[in-house]
Amino acid sequence: MIRPLLRMGHPILRQTAHKVSVADIQSADFQQFLSDMRESMKHHGGIGLAAPQVGESVQVAVIELEEGKNRYGSTEGLPFTIFINPVLEVLDMATQGFWEGCLSVPGLRGFVERPRKVKVTYLNERGEEKILIAENFLATVVQHELDHLWGHLYVDRMEDMRLLSFQEEFQQFYGQAPSLDEEDV
Ligand code: ZN
Repeated sequence: MIRPLLRMGHPILRQTAHKVSVADIQSADFQQFLSDMRESMKHHGGIGLAAPQVGESVQVAVIELEEGKNRYGSTEGLPFTIFINPVLEVLDMATQGFWEGCLSVPGLRGFVERPRKVKVTYLNERGEEKILIAENFLATVVQHELDHLWGHLYVDRMEDMRLLSFQEEFQQFYGQAPSLDEEDV
C-alpha cells in the first residue's frame, strides 16, 4: 500500500521515533509495513524514506541508491536496505556539502554540510544486527534519512539559509553544484 507523505509542519516529523522490538519486527503487520515503505519510496520517487514521513513514529528507514547516480559519478551505491533502530557513529568529522532535497519539504533544495564518513549499526528486516560503513554521497543520504528518526529535517542542519532555493531556481543558478539531483530523501 502506498502511503501519503507528511510535509514539514506536521508534528510527527519533529518527534523522536520509537524503537521496534525484535518480536514486532517479525510480526506480519510490521512486515507489511516494510513492504509499504518500499512501495511508497518508489512511488514518491525517493532514494530514501523514513517511517515518520509516512506518519509512523518508529525507527525505520529505507534507502536504495544506484551506483553513480549523482553528479559525483563514481559514488558507491546501496541496494535496497532497511534500517531498524539504527545507531549512527561519525568516523570522520571532516565535512562535505551537498544540495539536499526532501520528500517532506517538496520543491526546495538546500546546501548542507555533514561528516563524510559514518558507521551505522542497525537491525535488518529479520531482526539481525548489521553494520554499514558509508562514505561520501551515501554518508549524506544515510545521515539525512536517520535524522528523520530523531525529528530533524535537513533545513535544521543548514548553516547558511541563503543557500535554500526553490527547485527551479536551483537548476537555473546552481545546476552544476554537487547535489542529490532530482532525488529526494
Ligand atoms: Zn527527507
